Amino acid sequence: MTTPWHHPETLALHGGYRTDTATNAVAVPIYQTTSYQFADTQHAENLFALKELGNIYTRIMNPTCDVLEQRMAALDGGVAGLAMSSGQSATTLSVANLCQAGDNFVSSTDLYGGTWNLFANTLTGLGIEVRFVDPTEPEAFARATDERTRCYYAETLPNPKLNVFPIREVADIGRAHGVPLIVDNTAAPVICRPLDHGAAVVMYSTTKYVGGHGTSIGGLIVDGGNFDWEAGGDRFPTLNTPDPSYHGAVWSEAAKALGPIAYVLRMRVVLLRDLGTAMSPFNAFQFIQGLETLPLRMRAHCDNAARVADHLRGHPKVTTVIFPGLQSGEMRRRADAYLSGGYGALVGFELEGGREAGRRFIDALKMFYHVANIGDARSLAIHPATTTHSQLSPDDRLATGVSEGYVRLSVGIEHIDDILADLDQALAAA
Ligand code: PLP
Repeated sequence: MTTPWHHPETLALHGGYRTDTATNAVAVPIYQTTSYQFADTQHAENLFALKELGNIYTRIMNPTCDVLEQRMAALDGGVAGLAMSSGQSATTLSVANLCQAGDNFVSSTDLYGGTWNLFANTLTGLGIEVRFVDPTEPEAFARATDERTRCYYAETLPNPKLNVFPIREVADIGRAHGVPLIVDNTAAPVICRPLDHGAAVVMYSTTKYVGGHGTSIGGLIVDGGNFDWEAGGDRFPTLNTPDPSYHGAVWSEAAKALGPIAYVLRMRVVLLRDLGTAMSPFNAFQFIQGLETLPLRMRAHCDNAARVADHLRGHPKVTTVIFPGLQSGEMRRRADAYLSGGYGALVGFELEGGREAGRRFIDALKMFYHVANIGDARSLAIHPATTTHSQLSPDDRLATGVSEGYVRLSVGIEHIDDILADLDQALAAA
């Protein structure tokens, strides 16, 4: 469903859905069903042959998930979305949709620790080579590219360094080489629209800000519909050669009648079909509830985080504060070029006293939760060296920017006075 609205506040409430066609329900119903009755054998045959789009089986599509997919695609200015079971599955499928054993992709070093492990170990074990490059130097992406490079991968606002990724610079380099850029926009929904800056695909862990209430794990892909896969020819064998698992379909060809959705169509009907990482309709409902207030919450998150960063900067026990709004030079230019309406709600800081001070600070928190999550409406904190980044080798840990005394905050939407008071009393104990 196309909507006449363009403002994120309106799209978050009305994108992709008006009322339920079966019941006129205004809230999106939870279609908790595995399967869908075919009208007759011709209808079934058409659906399986993709001559007609419609519901077949919830591993592949579901009407509740469909609203979330459409709404997220509308918010990001994409052509179609695909919901799945977790952010990790969205990352995995975003790469696996283009790369097969023997292929490679180029990734920014500045990644969530789980993504780093997935790329450096699990995908490598499956024969897909990751080439890590430093994102402060966009040309490094070009140098790492060869004829088996299928995509580039990066995060908009990667923690812990919080250096905003040079989306336009790398997307342009990619387009000159015929390579699409996939952007993980988990930490910057609404405040950044990577497709506007040349990215081809956006992925989310909806677990974070989209859900916003810390209840459900989920992931989502938005296809920008702005990349010419067919022109890429041999670079994209998964999209441009006959698929033996789908009666020889060539996806860049087969998608034509449906719109510029070859990438997300293949991901849905081949990868979701085979790998099975579907989102449950109940979780899709939870994410829709979160999404409806996402623009409002992002504003409150960003405002509080800016106040926290400013406050920490003046504290004697804090040696460094990491926040895009406090950066200068090229990093600040990028933050201002790619973020609008705020600098996100992640704040990093380094404590005098290293690892032990980090532990004492976390143990003293009373309101902030000590959890391995970001993007909850509640304020959250973690000490990466002893948790999220502890499984990485010391070298890999340093490459991702985590030092022993580093603490990451995901600033929530509580009253700012209560947030600052909790931080101050924990700093006193650190
Ligand atoms: N991407 C980023 C930036 C994340 O922070 C996370 C989780 O922390 C993920 C991806 C993975 O998402 P999920 O936990 O939903 O699998």
